[in-house]
Amino acid sequence: MKLHLLTISLTLSFVLQLPAKAAEPGPETLKKSVEWQNDAMCQFVFFAVLEGLYRDGIQNEIVDAIIGDRVEKERDKVKTHFVFRCELCHATYEAFRAYRKRPTFMDAKGASTFGKGTDLKLLKDLRSKDARKRIYAMGGLIRPWIMHRIEETRKTPKEKSLMKKQFADYAQYGAKLLNAHKKAKDGFYLDWRFYGSCQACEAAKDLGKAGF
Ligand SMILES: [Zn+2]
Repeated sequence: MKLHLLTISLTLSFVLQLPAKAAEPGPETLKKSVEWQNDAMCQFVFFAVLEGLYRDGIQNEIVDAIIGDRVEKERDKVKTHFVFRCELCHATYEAFRAYRKRPTFMDAKGASTFGKGTDLKLLKDLRSKDARKRIYAMGGLIRPWIMHRIEETRKTPKEKSLMKKQFADYAQYGAKLLNAHKKAKDGFYLDWRFYGSCQACEAAKDLGKAGF
């Protein structure tokens, strides 16, 4: 009898807890901003960039320039090197942000990454007022990382061709977004006159050059 009562009270408390759980903020508010997370291509690019950053041991100064550390408004930071609302750009941007917050390794005298870093002269181009210079400087870093991961994960020729198509689709979508941003006279994009949208999307070109 005692056990039975316990079961009832446990069941009751479980039932009573349910509405409280459902009311917790989280899934609903998250849903809106993280669509790219569920996309396989975006995840692929995220890991390619994060891995490249670690493998090359990219310095924080470089990362800061790419994630718009000198831009005041939080939502404008991404626009320094990426197309706002482009999912592939978003994935790339998040990889840089995640890397920037990396912990130091234990008992490693403050080390937190692997490679020797890149030439800090790159900073000049990354902070250039000329959008083309800025964006291609960033692309020079991430595009080989994307190709590296494609090779590393041993994609078949068929998979590579499919990826090229997917990248091209993103590039097309990114170009449309960019046009809309320009038309809306978003000052960040007025000087993005060169062909193309963003460097992650343009990985399609590299696959094209590689023959896929
Ligand atoms: Zn993009």
